[in-house]
Amino acid sequence: MDRVIVAGGGLAGVRAAEALRRQGYEGGLTMVGAERHRPYDRPPLTKAVLKGETDFPALDTDLAALDVRVLAGERATGLRLAAGRGGTLATTTGDLDFDGLVIATGATPVRMPGDGPQHVIRTLDDALEVREGLVPGARVVIVGAGWIGAEVATTAARNGCAVTVVEAADAPLAGALGAELGALTAPWYAEAGVELRTGVKVASVERDGLALADGGHVPADLVITGVGVRPEVAWLDGSGLDVERGVLTDASLRASADGAVRPDVVAVGDCAAWWSRRYGRRLLVEHWDTALNAPETAAATLLGRAEPYDAVPYFWSEQFGRFVQYAGHHAGAERMIRRGDPADGAWAVAWITGDRLEAILTVDRPRDLVQAKRVIAAGTPVDPVLLGDPGIPVRQA
Ligand code: FAD
Repeated sequence: MDRVIVAGGGLAGVRAAEALRRQGYEGGLTMVGAERHRPYDRPPLTKAVLKGETDFPALDTDLAALDVRVLAGERATGLRLAAGRGGTLATTTGDLDFDGLVIATGATPVRMPGDGPQHVIRTLDDALEVREGLVPGARVVIVGAGWIGAEVATTAARNGCAVTVVEAADAPLAGALGAELGALTAPWYAEAGVELRTGVKVASVERDGLALADGGHVPADLVITGVGVRPEVAWLDGSGLDVERGVLTDASLRASADGAVRPDVVAVGDCAAWWSRRYGRRLLVEHWDTALNAPETAAATLLGRAEPYDAVPYFWSEQFGRFVQYAGHHAGAERMIRRGDPADGAWAVAWITGDRLEAILTVDRPRDLVQAKRVIAAGTPVDPVLLGDPGIPVRQA
């Protein structure tokens, strides 16, 4: 193999290029990235960048030193697979032949209908534009009480904006955590001086705010939508690759075409729906840790040393000054165990099936997170009673 292309210049793409070189690949390496900026990190966009602490959260990488040819500001527009191995990537700068391809084109925010001005935060440019509008007294309306919505609300409220968060579900984070648990975070909004309106359906974004499905209107100077993302895979239409919600891969991150594995094409990061051996199901994890670590496996796979990517999913968020972390995967878990009282500020919730720890959510309890992640990874049994005692470390029974 001597012509590898990485499509996408975000965290997963950069880490894939680094991993290929680290693992001994010496052939040609080209990265096609739609953004003109040097590679940067996205989680700070709704944290340090919005707060004004940095204008450019650079990724610590030196692609020139790795002899990566970077085509910045260019997009992959299509893919033609050759029979067996290799193919051609169509891009805005022309066709590029490859014998190995890493697909790492990330995800794109979902937008609300309507012609009114509407912001999302996915790119550095998005974040810098929103930051301009977070001035004292501005009426800031955020659609979606998810992780991103709450992070934006945190800074907007700190900046003295009049902040309203409009959420279609009955509680914040209902999609990610379920309404019962999400409801425990509702008081955080009020404490921060943010108005939270749940069970409210937005019809469209208009010139002067939101039109609601019930005929109501929410006036706004700035509308920011944070209702989730969808994998950036439309450019693969017609390529023959198996794509549903994300590029479907096997446990080693190999893509397939018409059901047949393509050892020359791997997908990683927010655009990849990989088969998790650990959970016996497909996972599409749109979080930083996966984009950081899965490329190591993708590179090994591309270089002919296929191995499964079997990490315990992990992410964190900063919600109104709290450090919230999650590890594991709780869909299908039998029951939820509370560790500590939310009224005390620091608490956690664990999900178990039988005596098996499936997942944990921690609020300002980072030690619980680290301990639990280790137990989840090992698959060792836990004692549900001890697990419910916040005074006892999370450990094997
Ligand atoms: P991306 O970072 O999206 O990179 C994909 C790149 O590919 C982009 O530069 C894109 O422009 C480019 N691209 C797209 N299409 C094409 C194309 N056709 N051709 C060429 N290039 C293309 N995760 C956490 O765990 N904790 C957090 O606190 C957290 N906060 C976040 C805050 C924000 C505002 C955002 C947006 C994300 C946050 N995340 C967080 C998620 C995390 O940043 C992502 O999971 C991670 O960036 C995914 O990396 P990626 O490389 O797969 O995709």
